[in-house]
Amino acid sequence: MSALPPGSTVGILGAGQLGRMLAVAAARLGLRARLYAPEADPPAGHVAPVDRGGWGDAAALAAFAAQVDVVTLEFENVPVATLEILAPLVPVRPGPRALAMAQDRVAEKTFLSEAGAPTVAFRPVDDAASLERAITELGLPAILKTRRLGYDGKGQARIAAPGDAAPALAAMNGAPAVLEAMAPFAREISVVVARGLDGATAAYDPAENVHEAGILRRSAVPAGIYDETRARAQAIAAQIVAALDYVGVMGVEFFHMPDGALLVNEVAPRVHNTGHWTMEACAVDQFSQHVRAVCGWPLGDPLRHCDAAMENLIGDEAADWARLSAEPGAALHLYGKAEARPGRKMGHVTRTSRMA
Ligand code: ADP
Ligand code: MG
Repeated sequence: MSALPPGSTVGILGAGQLGRMLAVAAARLGLRARLYAPEADPPAGHVAPVDRGGWGDAAALAAFAAQVDVVTLEFENVPVATLEILAPLVPVRPGPRALAMAQDRVAEKTFLSEAGAPTVAFRPVDDAASLERAITELGLPAILKTRRLGYDGKGQARIAAPGDAAPALAAMNGAPAVLEAMAPFAREISVVVARGLDGATAAYDPAENVHEAGILRRSAVPAGIYDETRARAQAIAAQIVAALDYVGVMGVEFFHMPDGALLVNEVAPRVHNTGHWTMEACAVDQFSQHVRAVCGWPLGDPLRHCDAAMENLIGDEAADWARLSAEPGAALHLYGKAEARPGRKMGHVTRTSRMA
């Protein structure tokens, strides 16, 4: 279980902005990055080579595996079958088990409850009858979500009154779904946690997150929580990665309830948008931390040395780059995406506290 030395190549499945920032982090540590993705001209392709291929293309995946020393991912909807093709050829971190769990909201919540991390009450829903039963058992308001493939609030429909049930079910387009009780949370927080190949864990400070229309608007540290809550959230996150024998960085999203309870909303088996602030506020950011973990290096210290607030640039907001680039103390990140579609994450800006 030795560390991959500088000069080794980290293979990354997916080549969006997270893959791009991982590739830059690998380069900082003297490692090479190589990405694999189906689409043409992805954001990470501007900073590292990309092998273009489908998720089921065994020959293209084998050729990719032959060029890299470890495989990781930046996108949690890589098919589990893709990891199973790669796993006999090259170490894959994190492995298929974490991915399979995080891809299905029912499997995810079931795993989390068993791992001692409570979630909102939920019921699987496949048709009108199971939806009606779920509404009777959980009450309203509630939220119906597709079990698989949702992101940035996509594949979700809120049910406030019984009359919303039929349109919500229709919005699932026949896909298997899950009904969740609506959590009247006081705030949303998240913990980006890392687990090394040696089993060590390191959790960053919880960020406080604001979502708009299901998309992350901003993440700020410190969150408006007591030390006890911070420690509890970090302990739950560490418990989750330990239960999975996980290697790498994971994002754990929580609802902080008015009575103090922490419910896990969902986990992401990858670097996380709510951890981007670590690039300016920690000596070892989440991208370096993930590269360290998957390469078998010691984890870095997650200590935060300043306050920070990260704001996503969504859709045409990145058109404001000239003003943002001139703002003192604002760290601007642009992802190199050509087309600014509504709801698309185009970049982010992080503002940090300054020394007096
Ligand atoms: P995604 O995979 O799109 O990130 P999430 O399940 O995290 O989906 O939902 C996005 C956001 O919608 C959450 O961060 C939260 O603000 C809101 N939300 C989702 N589920 C619930 C719930 N059960 N109760 C209250 N708010 C919710
Ligand atoms: Mg989420």
